[in-house]
Amino acid sequence: MLDQLEKLYQDELLNCRIDCPLRGTTTIVKGHYPEQPVNIAFVGEAPGARETELGQPFVGMAGSNFEDFLKSLDLTRNDVFITNTVKCRPTVGFQGRKNRAPYSSELEACSYYLKREMEITDPKLIITLGNVPLRQLLKDKKASITHWHGTLFFYGRAKVFPIHHPGAITYNRKLKGVIAEDLKVLKKLITLQK
Ligand code: SF4
Repeated sequence: MLDQLEKLYQDELLNCRIDCPLRGTTTIVKGHYPEQPVNIAFVGEAPGARETELGQPFVGMAGSNFEDFLKSLDLTRNDVFITNTVKCRPTVGFQGRKNRAPYSSELEACSYYLKREMEITDPKLIITLGNVPLRQLLKDKKASITHWHGTLFFYGRAKVFPIHHPGAITYNRKLKGVIAEDLKVLKKLITLQK
């Protein structure tokens, strides 16, 4: 499985030839996969500045909140697969300093890689973080994490549990309680499927 994933990254992703508005604009950030098989996948939105700099998902400010999520679930990075819906950083503003949500054309272009990652890793449980991966896996462009958080649905054979993006706490402290409740439910779900 790991071989197949690394082959996808080395042969295709890191030398992406898909006709995409983000192609060639920034460093491509591949998923993080531990050495042993795992059955839980976290899917974020897109890399930010720090992720792009280090070539790893969830290592910036949102990464610190993400580590707290993992701790509260008694998990570490070595227990899960971590990836983003879009593998290149979408930016806006002066010299592209600010992050922005990916456009539909970028989501469409990069959907191939997320689909392949999910086929190869075949997780039992996928945790989506924020609106972008929720909409992508649900195939509903208007779905909102405010409505869907904590609500299970299926993506193929995998259960999907949507929660708010870890970065959301930084600008909306009121979400802290909502997320804490969802993480409690998620922890039970993880225990049940072990
Ligand atoms: S966002 Fe995805 S499809 Fe677009 S250039 Fe990056 S890796 Fe390729």
